[in-house]
Amino acid sequence: MEKKETLDSSLKDIVSICKRRGFVYPGSEIYGGLSNTFDYGPYGAELLHNLKRLWWKHFVHLREDVVGLDSSILLNPKVWEASGHVSNFNDPLIDCRNCKARIRADKFLEDQKGEGAATGLSLQEMNRVIQEGNFPCPTCGNRGTFTEARDFNLMFKTSHGASAEDAQDIYLRPETAQGIFINFKNVVSTTRRKIPFGIAQIGKSFRNEIMARQFVFRTREFEQMEMEYFCEPGTQKEWFAHWVEYCLRFLTEQVGLKKENLKIREHEKEELSFYSEATSDIEYKYGFGWGELWGIASRTNYDLSQHEKFSGEDLKYQDQAANKKYVPYVVEPALGLNRLFLATVTDAYAEETLADGEVRTVLRFSPKIAPVKVGVFPLMKKDGLPELSRSIFGELSALGNMEYDDGGAIGKRYRRQDEIGTPYCVTVDYESLSDKTVTVRERDSMSQERLPIAGLKSFFADKIL
Ligand code: ATP
Repeated sequence: MEKKETLDSSLKDIVSICKRRGFVYPGSEIYGGLSNTFDYGPYGAELLHNLKRLWWKHFVHLREDVVGLDSSILLNPKVWEASGHVSNFNDPLIDCRNCKARIRADKFLEDQKGEGAATGLSLQEMNRVIQEGNFPCPTCGNRGTFTEARDFNLMFKTSHGASAEDAQDIYLRPETAQGIFINFKNVVSTTRRKIPFGIAQIGKSFRNEIMARQFVFRTREFEQMEMEYFCEPGTQKEWFAHWVEYCLRFLTEQVGLKKENLKIREHEKEELSFYSEATSDIEYKYGFGWGELWGIASRTNYDLSQHEKFSGEDLKYQDQAANKKYVPYVVEPALGLNRLFLATVTDAYAEETLADGEVRTVLRFSPKIAPVKVGVFPLMKKDGLPELSRSIFGELSALGNMEYDDGGAIGKRYRRQDEIGTPYCVTVDYESLSDKTVTVRERDSMSQERLPIAGLKSFFADKIL
């Protein structure tokens, strides 16, 4: 049984605008839903798409040292033995004997005793703290009803093969990273990449989270944007610092997140994964508090060495110039697309009281990621205004997603676009027919200016591309 979530009020506003304005719908809604699944509506899909494109641009296209990859979700199960996921990818689980709620023990302890309360604790130590605390079950409120904490593996199992005899148990990937490691040799030999270089990919991952919660922050199906950066042993510290800084700059300068809503949290020694030399999380201040957005880990040569051992393949890199052969070290910036989506909407959300007392809700997306770039409105649905508006819409559409809206008063149409975060609106009126100019209204200042139709495309291209 899953805990019914009580949403923090500011997260509630985000969930509400996402549903109301077609960003995110509850999954399988007409069948009563399926807990913790979500579908992204028209504006949500655009926003996801824009975030992915922006990431790909800055992590692949603008980097001469990074290439892209698109590997399978289904991999040979030996991959997950080699990577350590079969034995180590566990979260501590407790059950309530009374109401059968399943609870993630470390997060539960943090909820009860504050951030870091479970850091470095073994299962036995967690059991002791939970027993001593005599905490109530968050679902039924009873005390003393918890089972002992035990390891719960987060990988989803499925069956591969059509006939019962041939079917093999395999896993849905819990991260995209391993698909990159197992293709390291392929990429080196087919693209003649020289170290240092990175391989980046975007794709779905699956984790059977014990307590999936906080809207799209923690779901069982999610999308990752990961990059493995291969470097010479001894240079990993420098590259780690480079990528932490690069990721942070991407969030503030490209996505447009506010600096004060971001912080870097370095992992304590006892918190590090067994393969990691250093990890820094970039955290975002979500509606429910600070939470991980981007994990940057110095993964040593652990993964490639393990795959060498388990596959029997030589995965060393031959540095011709220096006449050296080694297993590269790896720095990995791993970002969750859905968490970036939530951070972006949270950061953009504002309610403003205007001079006339009216309250407007506005999403202040940076024009580069806004789901709709420009709203195009004919003042009236007659006298040639729709035809001229449609021709402007057609021309601007080459730049990105535009919206044509001819319904209702102009003020209402502006408000609708404000709520979905459209940075500009163009209104075509009677004067436009004679002087070939239109009114361009900017979302944040609400200022309006008259601009020639002929210059619109280059005016917007500067701002939204
Ligand atoms: P957490 O501690 O929050 O469970 P993690 O440290 O296990 O996250 P990583 O394995 O480092 O996460 O995964 C890289 C990124 O993938 C995270 O920074 C996050 O943005 C995203 N991510 C991980 N798990 C989920 C999930 N269940 N739902 C949505 N995004 C996720």
